Amino acid sequence: MRMPLIAGNWKMNGSLSLVEEFGRAFAGGSLPVNVEVALMVPFPFLGAASQALGETAVTVGAQTLSDRPSGAFTGEVSGAMLRECGARLVLVGHSERRALFGEDDAAVLARVKAALHEGLTPVLCVGETLEERETGCTEAVVLGQLEAVFEALDPAEHSRLIVAYEPVWAIGTGRTATPEQAQAVHAALRERLARHDKTLAAGMRLLYGGSMKADNAAELLAQPDIDGGLVGGASLKVDDFLAICQSA
Ligand code: PGA
Repeated sequence: MRMPLIAGNWKMNGSLSLVEEFGRAFAGGSLPVNVEVALMVPFPFLGAASQALGETAVTVGAQTLSDRPSGAFTGEVSGAMLRECGARLVLVGHSERRALFGEDDAAVLARVKAALHEGLTPVLCVGETLEERETGCTEAVVLGQLEAVFEALDPAEHSRLIVAYEPVWAIGTGRTATPEQAQAVHAALRERLARHDKTLAAGMRLLYGGSMKADNAAELLAQPDIDGGLVGGASLKVDDFLAICQSA
């Protein structure tokens, strides 16, 4: 069966003291055992998060990485550096990276490959804009983003990914996809993965993200094809995040 994963995405938020607070809160064995929990923190907090959460079951992750292994790329951070600082997961293709930093499907693929090369687990984010949804293009967009990566990888690499469906119109807006809307897209994603390999599709974790909160998480996570959450705003408060973990 698929172990649920709740991953917090701090984006460009938080502080070292918040890292410490999460470390203290989770050290007490407060996390449920049947759920994998991860925190994707800003680069400078990776080392501190790995230390503070080292005694807990929380996996530390990053929010992006360079597509290059090393060299004269001022300001960039490689997958090997993330690994050395304790990251095991890395978000790739978050809609903010796609929209604000010009990462197209090719750039996303290059980063997925770089992550895999360093032994990191890429969490590939896909999702449609409101306009795309309203013009009936949701599936085409989301499956296109999925295939841009899956078609280009070796089948042996496929099972090393996690996929997160995040409708852009639901991110940070307080407007969550209904459980039915989210489930429909997750089912379409799983069905597409089954074209590559049925075992792959059955085992692949598909997370939902977009205004997931303590009061809507249980309903979303109860859907048959939703295997966890990618949580932005609600991952910045220990109590809110813990409540979501407990509802998985
Ligand atoms: P949100 O962000 O939970 O604040 O909507 C989710 C995300 O962007 O990963």
